[in-house]
Amino acid sequence: MKKENYSDLGETIKSDDSDFQFASEVKKRSGTDFNMCYHCWCCTGGCPFSHAMDYTPNGIIRLVQFGLKRKALESSTIWLCVGCNTCSTVCPMRIDMSAIMDTMRQMALEEGISVAEPDILNFHKEVLHSIEHYGRTHKLEIMLRYKIRKRDWFSDMDVGLKMLAKRKLDLMPSKVNDIGEIRKFFTDVKHKT
Ligand code: SF4
Ligand code: SF4
Repeated sequence: MKKENYSDLGETIKSDDSDFQFASEVKKRSGTDFNMCYHCWCCTGGCPFSHAMDYTPNGIIRLVQFGLKRKALESSTIWLCVGCNTCSTVCPMRIDMSAIMDTMRQMALEEGISVAEPDILNFHKEVLHSIEHYGRTHKLEIMLRYKIRKRDWFSDMDVGLKMLAKRKLDLMPSKVNDIGEIRKFFTDVKHKT
């Protein structure tokens, strides 16, 4: 995948491209002061998915610092981040990258921005559906619902069968005891949005 060279962005910014309110909003909502970042690249070096991202993790921070809202919210990086926190662990400034990515995913949805990785969003929706119904994830159902949504019946079938054979997938879902509390939480969030 072609990697955007964020270090050239400074030369390409036009004044009307920048939205500096964006940086303040990301900072406030993520609770993370990314201005402490001095672009040492440790996060990117440790990120297991940076090779697949269009901007490196610290490149996303640079976009936010420059106020390049659309570039940041349209990027694949914010969806490919799995929130593993490897980057935060190695960051000398302890910047919470996954909180920044979470915030920007939410902002992209709120702003109706075209999602760069719709399959990942669909997968997130199925995980949340499972948690809303059972209070925990039922992996088999998540995968089946995701495949129905994608109309992709046969890919990864071999992996699924191996997992079933090794009893890594429960056939039936199990619910947490206080499922009412979990569902109330989801209902409250839906009313607020
Ligand atoms: S490791 Fe921390 S300070 Fe270094 S580039 Fe990444 S976010 Fe910035
Ligand atoms: S939290 Fe995201 S950006 Fe950080 S290392 Fe993990 S996948 Fe990469």
